[in-house]
Amino acid sequence: MYNVVVIGQGLTGMLSAIWAKEEGASVALVSQGTGKIIQSTGVMDIFPGSDAGMSELIREYQIKDWNPLLVESGIDRFKELMSRLGNPYQGKIEQPVEIVTGSGFLKSTALYPITVAPIPHRGHVVVVGFQEITDFQHTYVAENLASERSELTIDHFSISLGQRSLRTMTQLDAARLLEQEVVRKQVISKIKAKMKELLIRKPDLIILPSVLGVMNWKTVWSDFKTELDTIITEAVGMPPNATAIRLQEQLQKEMIRLGVRQYANSKVVDSHRVNQWIESVMARNTHNTIEVKGKSFVLATGGILGGGLEQLLSGVTETALGLEVDEQGNLVNPYKNLFLVGAAQGIGVTKYGITGGIFSILSSYESVIKNSYRLQVGGEQHDKLTRNQL
Ligand SMILES: Cc1cc2nc3c(=O)[nH]c(=O)nc-3n(C[C@H](O)[C@H](O)[C@H](O)COP(=O)(O)OP(=O)(O)OC[C@H]3O[C@@H](n4cnc5c(N)ncnc54)[C@H](O)[C@@H]3O)c2cc1C
Repeated sequence: MYNVVVIGQGLTGMLSAIWAKEEGASVALVSQGTGKIIQSTGVMDIFPGSDAGMSELIREYQIKDWNPLLVESGIDRFKELMSRLGNPYQGKIEQPVEIVTGSGFLKSTALYPITVAPIPHRGHVVVVGFQEITDFQHTYVAENLASERSELTIDHFSISLGQRSLRTMTQLDAARLLEQEVVRKQVISKIKAKMKELLIRKPDLIILPSVLGVMNWKTVWSDFKTELDTIITEAVGMPPNATAIRLQEQLQKEMIRLGVRQYANSKVVDSHRVNQWIESVMARNTHNTIEVKGKSFVLATGGILGGGLEQLLSGVTETALGLEVDEQGNLVNPYKNLFLVGAAQGIGVTKYGITGGIFSILSSYESVIKNSYRLQVGGEQHDKLTRNQL
């Protein structure tokens, strides 16, 4: 029997598993597949698709009693984790910044990796595209950026990666190619030569698609920055983004390092429940159905987009544990040892179907703190606590 059984392997599930393990619990993670994180940009938004801040998030999602200390320490814990994993995230939730996307439009975000830089209001930027990558068009990016930041001077051009591929290359393909020193050097030389040819002076910022390497990103990023002698930013956009793949792979590796027992390709199809307690979950893989027992359970199945909730003509259903939910996906009967995190909390905590990275971080953190306390002090005392007392 595990102390904690996490269901789902998106950002929310992985953070819940890592933090529970760090609290000393034995942890199993059961998941059908990877989460939406690999389709995301890898930056942590407060309120997806808008520039709203924390107060709007708390008001819209009706999180009346989210303690500011919990918010602060949850964000700090995420930043500490990412620094330890060698991929530090910067930014402050009280001061969201605007970054550029692969379409050239700006997007508001709160936390972002160091390969991404906020877009200044004034100055000189250069947009560099790659002829092999069709979903990042430098002309289009420059035009859209100009419409967003009228006081920026923007130059733009494309160069060739010089590599042939039998299919359309993605940004991730380019990111992997640029990990090869020889390709990287050629690309940097081509950028320098093109700037000379077009009489482009040294810019304040160079915008590239999300191509600055995957596991070896530090060397790639540092070489571009040093050789081109300016700030470089990846313009995150159409998946797959290298920024998101890095995050996914680092969290995945950390779970392995910490010893989280992973049941991959395993779809949770039912649960064994007694009164107000979950005792075990049943998960089906390609060979058989297994039962995973736990003291507590974290449901991180991602709501409608993640597959944990299903919208049928007859209403919303919860697909993993067979729980009764209302038309918003909210649990009708609470269970004492079940924690719902991320979009699994129901339609009320999503916008355009998604929750945004900040909500994933904070709801995972909240459940870990509650759960850790519950395991230490025992259920009855814990159940009397409100969020503000945690
Ligand atoms: C296209 C796209 C782009 C996005 N871009 C951004 C962005 O730029 N910034 C940002 O902050 N956020 C973004 N998001 C949202 C962000 O990815 C989410 O906040 C986050 O992924 C939510 O993660 P989650 O872990 O709650 O759910 P999910 O990522 O949906 O994960 C759900 C997990 O549960 C598993 N699962 C579901 N049902 C079962 C079952 N029955 N048994 C076992 N496992 C099950 C799934 O396999 C999956 O592993 C984006 C989302 C999408 C879809």
